[in-house]
Parts: sequence; C-alpha cells; structure tokens
Amino acid sequence: MVLETTRGNRLHIGFFGRCNAGKSTLINTLTEQQISLVSPIAGTTTDPVSKGMELLPLGPVMIVDTAGIDDTSELGLLRVEKTKQVLLTMNLAVYMLRTDVEPIPEDIEWLQQLQSSHIPTLVVINEVDGHQGSEFIKTHGELQPYTSQIVIADVNDRATRMTLLEALSKLKPVDEDVQSLLGGYIEEKDIFVLVCPIDESAPKGRIILPQVQMIREILDHHGTAMVCQVEELSTTLEQLRKPPKLVITDSQAFEAVSQIVPEEIALTSFSILMARFKGKLKDLVSGVHAIDQLRAGSKVLISEGCTHRQQCEDIGTVKIPRWLKAKGYTDLELEWTSGGHFPHDVSKYDVIIHCGGCMLTRREVLRRIDVASVQGVPIVNYGVLIASLHGILQRAIKPFEHELE
Ligand code: SF4
Repeated sequence: MVLETTRGNRLHIGFFGRCNAGKSTLINTLTEQQISLVSPIAGTTTDPVSKGMELLPLGPVMIVDTAGIDDTSELGLLRVEKTKQVLLTMNLAVYMLRTDVEPIPEDIEWLQQLQSSHIPTLVVINEVDGHQGSEFIKTHGELQPYTSQIVIADVNDRATRMTLLEALSKLKPVDEDVQSLLGGYIEEKDIFVLVCPIDESAPKGRIILPQVQMIREILDHHGTAMVCQVEELSTTLEQLRKPPKLVITDSQAFEAVSQIVPEEIALTSFSILMARFKGKLKDLVSGVHAIDQLRAGSKVLISEGCTHRQQCEDIGTVKIPRWLKAKGYTDLELEWTSGGHFPHDVSKYDVIIHCGGCMLTRREVLRRIDVASVQGVPIVNYGVLIASLHGILQRAIKPFEHELE
C-alpha cells in the first residue's frame, strides 16, 4: 500500500549553482539531514540527487540537488545537460552564489533561464569568510533584476534554516493552483464506482497509484468510493439506490465495463482523469487522430514516466503494440523510453504515445506535451489511445466535453 505522498504530487525544489557554491550544505541545513554529500572538492554532486520529505510549512517536497553548472569536463557537460532537464521539471528553485567568488556569465544565464521558464526562484547569497552579502549585491549590478528574490545567508548557520523556509513558503510555486483529479466534478456525498481489475499485471498485495489517489480524493471531498472488479460491477450498480455520479475504470477494462454500465451513467477511465489532471486533455484527444495516419514504417515513440518492472502482459511493450497490430497498424517502427528520459528531438516520430504520467509532476507532463507540439508531433496518452482503439473514446470524454471545446 502506498503510505507516502507520491513523487509526482510533491513540490519539487531544485538547488542550482556552480560547483562548490554550497548547495549540498544548504540542503543539509534546510532538511536537517545528510541528504547530499558535502566536500570541499568541487563537483562532488554528479547526477541530480532527489529526496522526498515533509518540510513544514511547505508540506511534502522533493528536494533535488544538482551538479555544478560550470563543470566543463566531458562528463561534466553531460551532467550540466541533466541539470538543464531537471530544471524544467521544478516547481521552485534555489540558485546559489557565494560572496568570495565573482559571478560568471553562466550564473546570470541560468537565472535568466529560470525566469523565462517561470520557475519562482530564491537566490541565496552564501556569505563566506566575512565577505558581506550586501556588499556583494551592491557591486554586482547584474543581480539587480533578482534583488526581490535574494536571501543572504551563512549556509552553515542553523538559523539559516528558518530564514530559508520562510522565504521559500512566500514563493508561489508553479502549478500550485492546479486542479485535482476530480477537480470541478466532485461534490459532497457523490458516489463513485471504481473498477480496478486484479489481473496478472496488477502489483501483488496492493492497488496502483492512480487508484489510491482517486480514493483519497473522493474521501477528502466527503464522497463515497465503491471499489470492485469487472465481475462484480453489475451487482455493485444494482445494489446502489441511485446511480453513481461517475464510474471510473482501468483503461484496459474499458470495453467490458462500457457494456455493463448503462449509457445514462457517466463513465470514464483513470487515465482520462490523469490526462485531465496532469496534462492537456484537449491536446491528447486531438493527438489520437494521428493514429489513423499510421502506415508501415511509421515511427512511434512509446514513452513511460517511470521504470516499473515489466510484466509479461506489460501495457507499453506488449498490449499497445498488440492492439495496434490488431487494428491493422502493422510494421510500425516502435521505440520506447522510460523514467526521466524523454528525447529533446522528437521530430522523427509520427506520433508519441505516453503513459498516464502518475509518477511525473504536472509540469513535466506539460513539458513533454509542449516538446511534442512545438515540433509538430501529435501526442496521445495510454488512456485516450486505448479508449479510441476500443471505440469508446467519445463516451470516456463525455463527462468533460465542455472542457474540450
Ligand atoms: S508507467 Fe506511467 S502511468 Fe504507469 S506507473 Fe509509471 S508513471 Fe505511472
């Protein structure tokens, strides 16, 4: 059972700056834990290091320590590239400078990049060896555009923790006002029926994340969640005195479920709700039309947001290719990516099929949709695709059709 806030639902705070700027020390001071390895040797942090935790008053956060932006070694350039990718997925950022080292043009470039990416940023001036932060700001006019975001601190001082927490909690994180899974749809006392098949691809001893999230959200709104498998769905509906507000099913069971649920009862899938919550349902629905254009040799990218263990009936590698083939889309050139990797250049693909992205932040899902649309590549997600392949997309999106206009 999932007991913690999931990665995708945490506030992601990225720490950026040059090698040895004091990022790792600051993180350890802020979190009161040894999350990052601290050493006087420049470049101790290589790949981004993430750690989920509860950080009051911010709530559940994901702290992300990144490699120095000024590492020019061959490996360093790769690390900087990774840091750039991480930057785009953050809800908040902390950029570090130290008073005994002159800022370099790259410092300002990164601050500009954070600004243009609309990521609220706190600039922490690390006071080192008696070099005053206020003097440092005065003598560096290039920092003027950021003065309202600057905090002067000694990262080794424990008092810095409160100063920093206070400053961070004043920033308005990107996506803070994002709706929830059932946002705008759920009211108190509403009844929802969740259809959660337990087949060989279901994880042992637990239900999957979108299902857990949905139940929690229904409870938060003082609604009722009834959970069953497909086989018990008819009986569950019969036992209700009034029809449920919505039946939500696992996408893979949509066809069977749609035959059981009367037309007058609204029906959708977890993936459609996840697409609405995390991405742009409108874009994903319009992306599905690209499937009709696929021909032998068409290139299709199947991308998943995490590196879960593959099952024998894995959806991305087995079921979707099989369903496409069954619909006559044969001899496609399929490629897969998973986890944090999503190509910068997707222009060679005819369509991208993405998972629901439950482990990704909304910001990251939106970024991937934007990468695709900027390059003119249609993108669709599993839920929308499966509903479409099974001829039930219109029914699955009907509860939200006003949002698609
Ligand atoms: S593959 Fe995608 S939808 Fe499935 S668990 Fe991973 S992030 Fe969530």
